[in-house]
Amino acid sequence: MDAGRELGLETLKMPKAIREEDCIQCGKCAFGCPADAKWSGKDFIDEAVNDGATFISEAEVTEVIVEDSKVKGVKYVKNGVEESVFSDTVILSAGAIGSTLLLRSAGIDAGRQIFFDPFVTVGGYIKDINFNTEVQMAGLVIGNNFVLSPHFSSFTIGNIDDEKVENKDILSIMVKTADEAKGYVDDDGDVVKINTIEDIRYLAEGVATAGFILEKAGVDPRTIGSTLYRGAHPGGTAPIGEIVDSNQETEIKGLFVSDASVLPISPGKPPILTILALSKRLSDYLKNK
Ligand SMILES: Cc1cc2nc3c(=O)[nH]c(=O)nc-3n(C[C@H](O)[C@H](O)[C@H](O)COP(=O)(O)OP(=O)(O)OC[C@H]3O[C@@H](n4cnc5c(N)ncnc54)[C@H](O)[C@@H]3O)c2cc1C
Ligand code: SF4
Repeated sequence: MDAGRELGLETLKMPKAIREEDCIQCGKCAFGCPADAKWSGKDFIDEAVNDGATFISEAEVTEVIVEDSKVKGVKYVKNGVEESVFSDTVILSAGAIGSTLLLRSAGIDAGRQIFFDPFVTVGGYIKDINFNTEVQMAGLVIGNNFVLSPHFSSFTIGNIDDEKVENKDILSIMVKTADEAKGYVDDDGDVVKINTIEDIRYLAEGVATAGFILEKAGVDPRTIGSTLYRGAHPGGTAPIGEIVDSNQETEIKGLFVSDASVLPISPGKPPILTILALSKRLSDYLKNK
């Protein structure tokens, strides 16, 4: 964080979906929390069920039912059996790829563009730093074209050319950028992603800055390596203003989308709070309509 400030970059503590009093600092946040210290969408489902909602789990929605340009419900498969549930309001929240396929089942041509917030994790050797057991992504350094966050990845070690290095000896930083929404989801749900020169340039700027910070933090610069280029935030497949309107409704009356699909551009930053805020706004809209 100090090295980020030295470069004149904004630095802050990352807001986390963690009840800090319950956290046992095991560093396994991306794999399910053994102490149940993270809040998640499940908390909202529990609230809805307590208020009388019916929750159908382990079910795959296969089709949106539409009649006369109005939504009528969905078909789903549970335990190999197809069932239907009927309603004049349906909100798709199956993620950028899942919602695309369901929108297409309703005749809406979604998924002709996609962003995914590309990232790499770069790291190097500091003996016994034990960073791999800390809460991950606890801080944020904000550049013009990238964000950086302390992040351990088990893929980093394979790219460090030194056999004595163990996971406990790695300090690493995630470099994440916004990307252009070039690419598409095909009809099988596979993603074709096209990276532009601008995407690569932003990532290179972030990687160079991360290298500077790692060296300042004591990493031996000769050991710095990177993971492959990946994306963990698929979105933008049903953007507001194109596939949904400003109330997240599609051209089919009563059919809404509320997930990362509706984000019109790549945030280049962790998107959960934005997705959550949009969903809360949509529920207020539907309540007061
Ligand atoms: C390892 C990892 C770490 C991340 N860390 C952070 C972070 O720290 N902060 C942050 O802000 N973001 C983080 N993200 C990104 C964030 O998780 C996603 O951007 C966000 O969850 C997207 O929300 P969504 O509602 O669009 O889709 P999802 O969260 O993917 O929800 C879609 C759900 O729909 C279900 N589904 C799909 N198709 C169907 C169907 N046909 N029928 C029934 N169900 C279906 C899926 O199983 C899934 O449960 C991380 C992502 C990854 C992969
Ligand atoms: S570090 Fe992450 S997984 Fe471990 S207890 Fe804390 S919140 Fe849960």
